[in-house]
Amino acid sequence: MALVFKVRGAIKNYDWGKLGSQSAVAQLQKAGFYNFNIDEKTPYAELWIGTHDSGPTIIPFINNMKLKDWLTSHTQSLGTNISNAFDVSKGLPFLFKVLSVNKSLSIQAHPDKSTAEKLHREFPDKYPDDNHKPEMAIALTDFEALCGFRPLCEIQTFFKHIPHLQKIIDIKIVDKFMNSTNKDDLKHLFTAVMTCTKNVFESQLEEISKGFQSNQFNNELCFSIRDLFLKTYNQYPGDIGCFCLFFLNYLKLKPGEAIFLAANEPHAYLYGDCVECMACSDNVVRAGLTPKFRDVETLCNMLTYQCKSSEENKFLSIRDPEDPYIKIYNPPVPEFAVDLIELKEKGKSYALKILQSASVLLVVKGKGVYKSENVECELTLGSILYISSGCQVYLNQIHEMLIFRAYCSA
Ligand SMILES: [Zn+2]
Repeated sequence: MALVFKVRGAIKNYDWGKLGSQSAVAQLQKAGFYNFNIDEKTPYAELWIGTHDSGPTIIPFINNMKLKDWLTSHTQSLGTNISNAFDVSKGLPFLFKVLSVNKSLSIQAHPDKSTAEKLHREFPDKYPDDNHKPEMAIALTDFEALCGFRPLCEIQTFFKHIPHLQKIIDIKIVDKFMNSTNKDDLKHLFTAVMTCTKNVFESQLEEISKGFQSNQFNNELCFSIRDLFLKTYNQYPGDIGCFCLFFLNYLKLKPGEAIFLAANEPHAYLYGDCVECMACSDNVVRAGLTPKFRDVETLCNMLTYQCKSSEENKFLSIRDPEDPYIKIYNPPVPEFAVDLIELKEKGKSYALKILQSASVLLVVKGKGVYKSENVECELTLGSILYISSGCQVYLNQIHEMLIFRAYCSA
C-alpha cells in the first residue's frame, strides 16, 4: 500500500457560497475530478480536506474509503508531530479548506478549549464539538473580512457621527464609552447593542441605511464603510449583525495575505476566495448576519475586546530559510501550519520537504507529476495529495505550480 496517494475532499453547499463555476471550490473539484459536474444554480461554499466526521475526505482508489478509517490502521503514517501531541484515533488534528464567499458569513467567534468543552457539555445539540477552533485564512483572490475590534477612537467616531447608533441603547452606556479607554466599557456597549430588541433597532438601522444612501454622515471613516454597509444591509436587512460594521475592522487582503483568528476573536468573512486551516473542529458561536442559531450572550461574554488596527490583524508569513520556494504561515497553535509553495520555472524538478507529520497538499494553479516510492502520477489544478509522515515526494515536469501544503507543526 502506498503511503502517498490522491484523495478527494468534501464539498459544502452553504447558501453564502459563490454560484456554479464562479466558485473556486467548484472549479477545483471539476478540474481535479473528471466525474464532477457543476450545477450553475448551486452554491459551492467550502471544500473540506481532513478527517472531520461532518465532511470526510475519501480515497477514490480504495473504493472511496474514508481517510480517517485508513488512518486507524495506519497510525504511524501520522508521524511524531501528531502522535506526541494529539489523540491519533481522531486522525488529522487540522482541517484544511477552500472557501468561496459570495455573501457575508455570520458574525462569529470560536471558543477556547475550556469554553468549547463547557458549551458541548451543556448544549450538545448546538455545539456538537468539544474542541477549540483557532483558524487562519490565506487569500487566493482579493478577499474581504471583518476581524477583531477596531481601535476605540474609531468606534467612538461612528457613535459621534451617526446619531441613530446612540438611540438604540441607554445613553448612560454611550456617554461612559465615549470618553473611555477601558475595554469593559466597550464590552458593555457592544453587549447592549447586540442584545437590543428588533422593534427598537430595526427603524434606526433603516435610518442609518438612508443616511448612507444620501451621504448624510460627513466623515472619512463613515465614508470608508458606506458601500460595505449598504451591501450588507441589502443582504441581511433588519439583521442586528449590520451594527458589527461599526465595531470590527474591515480588512481587504491581497492574494497571499493572511489573517489568524485566535480563540474568542470576532470575525466574519465577506467576499472572495481563500484557503483556510484550523484545528479539526466545527465549533462556531454566532451572533448576527445569519439565519442559523444565534447565541449572543455566549458570544458577548467570551470575546477578548482587544482593540487593534486593521494592519495589526494581518498575519505575516515568513520565507523558509532552507527553501526559497516556500512561504510558511505558522500561527501560535500546535495543530497546524501551512506552506505556500510557488514553482514558476518550467520543467523543473523539486523535492518536497520531508516532514515528521502527515500532510495534505492542494494544487491551486498549474500542473506537474509527483513521484514517490515507485509511483508516478499527474497532479493538476484541484489535485489533492495525502503524504504520510517521513515520505519523500518529488515533483517533476512542473508547469507554473502554486501549491498549499497543510501539516501539524507541534
Ligand atoms: Zn470562523
